[in-house]
Amino acid sequence: YHAKSRGDHALRWESSLDKHVASRMTLEQDLRQAIERQQLFLHYQPQLNAAGELLGVEALLRWQHPELGMISPAQFIPLAEETGLIFRLGRFVLEEACAQMVRWQESGLYMPRMAVNLSARQLTSGYEHEVISVLESQNLAPTRLEVEVTETLLIQDMEGGLSVLRALRELGVRVALDDFGQGYSSLSYLSSLPLDVLKVDRSFVMKMDALAEDASEQGRGGQVASEQGANEQAIQLVGAIISLGHSMGHEIVAEGVETQAQFEGLKRLRCDSYQGYLLARPMTATAIVERYGPGN
Ligand code: C2E
Ligand code: MG
Ligand code: MG
Ligand code: MG
Repeated sequence: YHAKSRGDHALRWESSLDKHVASRMTLEQDLRQAIERQQLFLHYQPQLNAAGELLGVEALLRWQHPELGMISPAQFIPLAEETGLIFRLGRFVLEEACAQMVRWQESGLYMPRMAVNLSARQLTSGYEHEVISVLESQNLAPTRLEVEVTETLLIQDMEGGLSVLRALRELGVRVALDDFGQGYSSLSYLSSLPLDVLKVDRSFVMKMDALAEDASEQGRGGQVASEQGANEQAIQLVGAIISLGHSMGHEIVAEGVETQAQFEGLKRLRCDSYQGYLLARPMTATAIVERYGPGN
């Protein structure tokens, strides 16, 4: 009896594992073909200054799967990294993003800057040459490109990645640290990184809410008071991050600005640049022209 039940269990487990593996392999095959079948494309999310002027956009990869619909990059980027497909995907993103800058220009929209996300695995030695060749083929100045990397990326493969970033910066490409605050870098490590921009992670911005309007309505429940305490703490923390970044000579971008209160709070803290659903969602290249192009 005992053995049989264990056998059944093992069988059930095995078959669900098979399914899991099979679907992963199918997804991997689908992803391999996705570029040729033109299922991959970019959305662009504006980055604005406090006055609402367009400073640039961040390219965000999208996959329209024929059966599964839109698949989030949070799901397929890790798969692409594990399978090595990230090299082809990354090349596609860089080429498409740079080509789009030229297309916008032709339709009368000057886009000051394009930010592109890079995965850890892409930053192998010599990667700067790929960037140079793409920029040259589009006749695009390096200063109009920004690459976004994460802290974890830099911790995993220190020297190789860092020397690529140094080479890119020497060319004039800007380097941004994405999702700042999510990682565990020490301050001395942070100050040693070759960076131009810190992007304050959305999780900090999220907590900066509801204080501005409600500050006058005191004396309500303890609940409100403690929420305001947490909010005040978040504002202080983001303020400290911004001062720290500025003291290192970096520009600060706030990610995930969703409410007017967050926007106002960040402006008071002298944040340089703002990105989030409140200001603009990621959108197609055409939507960018409709919103920011000539005649708008
Ligand atoms: P990320 O680089 O930190 O990009 C910001 C993410 O936050 C995007 O999600 C964006 O759509 C979303 N977002 C922007 N504003 C708001 C907001 O106000 N509220 C909320 N809740 N979310 C907001 P998305 O497009 O799903 O991308 C997720 C992640 O996938 C990116 O995070 C990035 O790490 C990765 N990714 C996207 N495209 C690429 C790519 O071309 N290459 C690589 N290596 N990674 C990419
Ligand atoms: Mg990013
Ligand atoms: Mg980010
Ligand atoms: Mg993020």
